[in-house]
Amino acid sequence: MIWYPYQQMKTMAPPYEIVDAQGVYLYTRDQRLIDSVSSWWSVIHGYKHPRLNQALISQAEKFSHVMLGGLTHQPALRLAEKLENWLPGTLNHCFFSDSGSVAVEVALKMALQYFMNQGQEQRTMVLALEHAYHGDTFKTMEVGDDEDYHFVLKAYGKSKQVVHIPTQIPALEQAFQQYHPYLNCLIVEPLLQGAGGMRMYGLPFLQRARELCDQYGVLLIFDEVATGFGRTGNRFVADLVQPDILVLGKALTGGYIGHAVTVASQKVFEGFYDDNPEHALMHGPTFMGNPLACSVALESIHIFEEEDYLSKIRRIEEITRREMEGFSHPKVKEVRIMGGCVCVEVDHPSTLAGYQKFAYQRGVFSRPFLNYLYAMVPYIIQEDQLVQVLDTMKAWFQQNF
Ligand SMILES: *Cc1c(COP(=O)(O)O)cnc(C)c1O
Repeated sequence: MIWYPYQQMKTMAPPYEIVDAQGVYLYTRDQRLIDSVSSWWSVIHGYKHPRLNQALISQAEKFSHVMLGGLTHQPALRLAEKLENWLPGTLNHCFFSDSGSVAVEVALKMALQYFMNQGQEQRTMVLALEHAYHGDTFKTMEVGDDEDYHFVLKAYGKSKQVVHIPTQIPALEQAFQQYHPYLNCLIVEPLLQGAGGMRMYGLPFLQRARELCDQYGVLLIFDEVATGFGRTGNRFVADLVQPDILVLGKALTGGYIGHAVTVASQKVFEGFYDDNPEHALMHGPTFMGNPLACSVALESIHIFEEEDYLSKIRRIEEITRREMEGFSHPKVKEVRIMGGCVCVEVDHPSTLAGYQKFAYQRGVFSRPFLNYLYAMVPYIIQEDQLVQVLDTMKAWFQQNF
C-alpha cells in the first residue's frame, strides 16, 4: 500500500484518484477539477503541455538517464548554460539534484565547507527565519521552523547551530551583532514563506540582510524552491537582491519531474576551486542532472520567456486583487496576495474542515493546511477559471458561517 504524506493514515480521507489531466484541469472518474495547488506549486504551464511532452519524448528516444559522475550530456550542459545566462549576476555554477530538500542540503553544505576550506572553523552556525520551511530532510528541518517537526526537537533538543529570527530588521541586526563570528550563512525564503503559512514580508528586510552579510562576510542563501519562476510576481526574488547561493526546484521542470538546482556565485565557487582534493564539494545524488528533467526544464524556461509569463502572473494578481477586494468575514483573519499566490488565513483550523470536499463539488482541487486556505494556480489559467477558484474560496465562508 501507499504510505501518503503528512497525514494520519488511520483517519485520512481517501485521496482523489486522477485518471487524466490537461491544462489547469485534473480529471477524476466523475469530476473535472481546476488544480488550484498546481501540484504543490510546480505545474506552472498546466498539464499535458505539448512542448514539454515533446521535450521529454525526444530525449527519451536518445537516453533517459546517465550519471553525471565522469559523464556529461547536452541536456545538462544546455540547462546550466541557460541558467548561467538567465540568472542575475555571477550565479553561474549549477549543482543539480533530484529534489528541493536535497538542493537546500547542498546549499547549506556549500556554505559550511566554504568557510572550512578557508580555515574559518568557528563559522558553524546558520541564521534562519521563524516559520521557515526548507524541506523534510534532517538538516532542512533543523533550519526550518515547522510545527510538524516538533517531535525532532523533543528527541534532540533545539540545535545549537541554528538561530531563528522573525522577519524584522531590528531582530536581523541584533542577530548579526550577537552571532556574526560564528555564522556561515543566512538562509531565507525571500518575500514569501510558503509552507510556514504563506507569510509575506518586504524587500527592505532582504536589502538589509544583503548589507549585513556583506559587512560580516556571511553567505546569503535564497531558497527559491517555491518563489522561483514568477510566483511572487518577480521572475526570481534574486533579480531584486542578489544571494550568494540560489536554490531552485518545484517549477524548474514545469512540474514534470522532480529536479532541483543549487546555483553558486563565482565567489562561492572559488572557495572550492584549488589544488586540494579535500576542498572539493563532496555530494552527488544518483539522478542529478537527469537528462529528461534537464530537457523539460530547458523547454519550460523557453516557454516562460517566449510567452511572457511575467505578464500572465501580473494578470493573475490583478484579477485576484479585484475579486478579493472588500472580502471579509468574521472567521477570516487576513487575506494576503502576492503575485500568483493568494492566502486566506482563518481564525482556527476547524474553520477549514470540509473545505476540500466543498471545493471538489464546485470543480476545484484545493488542499488547505492549518489555518491557511490558499491558491497557487498554474500561470496559464483563464480569467473565468481563476474567478471560479476565488469564488469557491469566498463561498465557503458565505455559505457555511
Ligand atoms: C517544497 C520546498 C522545499 C522542498 O522541496 P522538495 O522537492 O519537496 O524536497 C524546500 N524549500 C521550499 C521553500 C519549498 O517550498
